[in-house]
Amino acid sequence: MLFMNLQRLKDKQPIIRYHEAAWWLTLWKKSDEFGFLAQAQSQVLQQCLKDLDRAFSDGFDRKQPLKRMPQFKRKGLGDSFRFPQSVRIEGDRVFLPKVGIVRFRESRSIKGLIRSATVSRRGKHWFVSILTAIEVDEPVHESSTATGIDRGVVNLATLSDGSVFEGSKPLKRLSKKLAREQRRLARKTKFSNNWKKQRERITRLYIKIADARNDAIHKATTIISKNHAVTVLEDLRTKNMTASAKGSVDEPGTSVRQKAGLNRSILDMGWFEFGQQLGYKQQWRGGQVILINPRNTSRKCSTCEFTDKGNRITQEQFSCTACGHAENADLNAAKNILAAGLAATACGGIGGQAPYEAGTRGAVMQSLPLAA
Ligand SMILES: [Zn+2]
Repeated sequence: MLFMNLQRLKDKQPIIRYHEAAWWLTLWKKSDEFGFLAQAQSQVLQQCLKDLDRAFSDGFDRKQPLKRMPQFKRKGLGDSFRFPQSVRIEGDRVFLPKVGIVRFRESRSIKGLIRSATVSRRGKHWFVSILTAIEVDEPVHESSTATGIDRGVVNLATLSDGSVFEGSKPLKRLSKKLAREQRRLARKTKFSNNWKKQRERITRLYIKIADARNDAIHKATTIISKNHAVTVLEDLRTKNMTASAKGSVDEPGTSVRQKAGLNRSILDMGWFEFGQQLGYKQQWRGGQVILINPRNTSRKCSTCEFTDKGNRITQEQFSCTACGHAENADLNAAKNILAAGLAATACGGIGGQAPYEAGTRGAVMQSLPLAA
């Protein structure tokens, strides 16, 4: 369906929407070529078509400038499917329609009404995520402080009070290794056995990197959301369009470019994930995430507000050419971010704005590894 719709877009034809897609699905199930589809629960297939339809809608939505048209995914990375209903759990066993009863290791007790289950594969391992709905009281945040957060290259996050979250230590080493393994892959004959083995190695590395990064982000966002009721971040939707020379990844030089692109994407994913996690953790605790326009946050002096490119001497050091105020560049940016966030609240500019869509209120995602 994705192929058909992308083809239609290329030919300037209207795309196939869900209802027609579902009709195609019934035909495909009866065909010789796609008859294997009948082995899956029809609701799983319908859900997949609904997700695709949603992805196209988001792609066309002008209010979501970061969303792009859906593309083919790489096989083996993020493979998953979702059961919208009929999932039952008894002890350490989960009943998945058409799959049967599967044993799983419960990483967290499941509370509330089961809404859906998503089965995903990471490398050789299978996981099931159970989405449940529970009624919770409107939370009140324990803290009353506000903080600005600068998401950086050298450090994961720098707060306006001066605290620094370094991020994942093994990430740099793994990123280097990934670049090396990818060069090795490029030298092998495409689709040969050695090439396939090498590709498998790279997939495993990707997973390792994602785990290391997520772990660091989880630790940081948990601490930050516990300590501060109001958290201010730069809005990545505008950030991505303006970001040009932030960070050492943009250093010029031979062979750096390719690596830069890779680091860049790892970095971007981390920044986005950071915002997502902080968003839902603040929602749980009754806190708030304010998104501000990132323009000039790294060039403005946090003391006298003088804004100039020359204020930023190096990646690390900020020094105001007007008042002489000097400090760590990320800390200066974090202070500006906080000030912009507080200004936005004072003007009522963020009234009723939901910074991140954190799903249904009270919905909890629980990821449980399935037994092999
Ligand atoms: Zn100044």
